[in-house]
Amino acid sequence: MHSRDAVFLEDLCPKLRDRRWRKSLHEYTSKSCIYCGKNSESIDHVLPRSKGGLTITENCVPACLSCNGSKTDNNAFEWYRKQRFYDPRRSMAIRAWTEGDIRLALRLLKWAKPKEIKAFESSKSRLNEDISWQAA
Ligand SMILES: [Zn+2]
Repeated sequence: MHSRDAVFLEDLCPKLRDRRWRKSLHEYTSKSCIYCGKNSESIDHVLPRSKGGLTITENCVPACLSCNGSKTDNNAFEWYRKQRFYDPRRSMAIRAWTEGDIRLALRLLKWAKPKEIKAFESSKSRLNEDISWQAA
C-alpha cells in the first residue's frame, strides 16, 4: 500500500486515524506514563473533558491506568503535586506538552527518569547524554 493510500484510508476512517494518533502519543514517551513513568496504558486529558478539555495532542498525555483513574476530574497539576512520585521536572514537562512544545516536554522527561536509570545516566558524561538525545 502506498503512503498516499494510507492517508486516504485515514480520511475515510476517523477511527483508524484516532488509533494511530493515540499510538503516536504513547510512542513519544516510549509508552511510559507522563506522571509516574510506569507503562502507559491509556490517554489522559490534562484538562478533563468534563471541563471542556479537547481531545488534541496538547491536552492528551500518555498515562498509566492507575494515574488516570486516580486523577479523574481533578486539575492535573494540583493532583500531580500531591502524588508520592511527584517530580518537578515531570510537572514542567506536562506544562510544556500542554503548550504544544512536545520536544521540550520529552527533554524534561528524559531527565526525570526513575532513580535507577538516573543513577546510571549521571555516571555518563553530560556530552553523551546530549548526543543520545539528538539520536532519539
Ligand atoms: Zn502513572
